[in-house]
Amino acid sequence: MRRVHLPTSLDALWPLLDDPQARVMAGGTDLLVRLRASLPAGPICCLERIPALRGVSVSGRIVRIGSATTLTELLESEDIAAGLPLLGAAVRQLGSPLVRNQATLGGNICTASPAGDTLPALYALGATLELASQASTRAVPVENFITGPGRTVLRPGEILAAVCVPLPDSGAIQHFEKMGRRRALAISVASLAACLELDGGRIRRISLALGSVAPTVLRCREAEEWLAGRELTADNLTQAAELVQVAVHPVSDVRATADYRRQVAANLLLRLEAHRP
Ligand SMILES: Cc1cc2nc3c(=O)[nH]c(=O)nc-3n(C[C@H](O)[C@H](O)[C@H](O)COP(=O)(O)OP(=O)(O)OC[C@H]3O[C@@H](n4cnc5c(N)ncnc54)[C@H](O)[C@@H]3O)c2cc1C
Repeated sequence: MRRVHLPTSLDALWPLLDDPQARVMAGGTDLLVRLRASLPAGPICCLERIPALRGVSVSGRIVRIGSATTLTELLESEDIAAGLPLLGAAVRQLGSPLVRNQATLGGNICTASPAGDTLPALYALGATLELASQASTRAVPVENFITGPGRTVLRPGEILAAVCVPLPDSGAIQHFEKMGRRRALAISVASLAACLELDGGRIRRISLALGSVAPTVLRCREAEEWLAGRELTADNLTQAAELVQVAVHPVSDVRATADYRRQVAANLLLRLEAHRP
């Protein structure tokens, strides 16, 4: 029989992680599916009752989100709605209300799927992750955290404790669009998160992150650099979309072919024209 631990503090969690077979569980919406298929036997250490890992707070220009905060709690947060609507938009399109009630932000990040819906938003917003173990805490940019599908830089005994997101300028445009095979409960075929600041019609600063079109979420710096300083016009977006097509490395799978994903990724960029003043 598998042991399940429900620690109520980080101090109680750390010794449990000394067992090399122990698995951390947040909402369980990914882990329990895998558990049924293949995970080795070993105790499960639940994070849900550890207050230090839950909640949203703002300090200066940084929003700090505890890793075990559920996606529903994120949608209920006024700080997220006011300052990080991009993250809110991504969460709103993840799974169903039932999934979001259970699933956590940390779980979506640590699953490290190229289709993880919160990841493009966190990449575009320049989030930093707080990784903690009994011995130390370190900060890692989200872009450096995931090294491949299902692979992260987490060390044995280490957890994702919190996600720190710098608040964009109040006038910044935050945009998210996910393309799936149906409107609800769909894993993305391609997605785009963008955060841009305009000066009149000219793009002063832009960050672009694409989901489901490479082994990890992809920050498309070639397109960002090309667009910076230019007008937000259909022509310029069309040129940048060509750079997106070159930058992505999609695979063909049951949801879409690689060619289709490449085309969708480029088309998603064209939608930014809707934000032209
Ligand atoms: C019906 C259904 C629909 C779904 N739809 C979508 C969708 O549209 N988009 C999408 O992106 N995902 C979707 N998912 C996947 C899943 O719901 C999300 O990835 C969710 O955010 C995972 O969070 P969790 O808390 O349930 O993670 P868990 O299942 O608890 O954990 C996932 C993995 O992360 C590890 N982990 C969790 N928290 C931490 C931590 N703090 N530190 C270290 N490791 C940790 C666990 O050990 C495990 O390996 C869906 C799942 C289901 C069942």
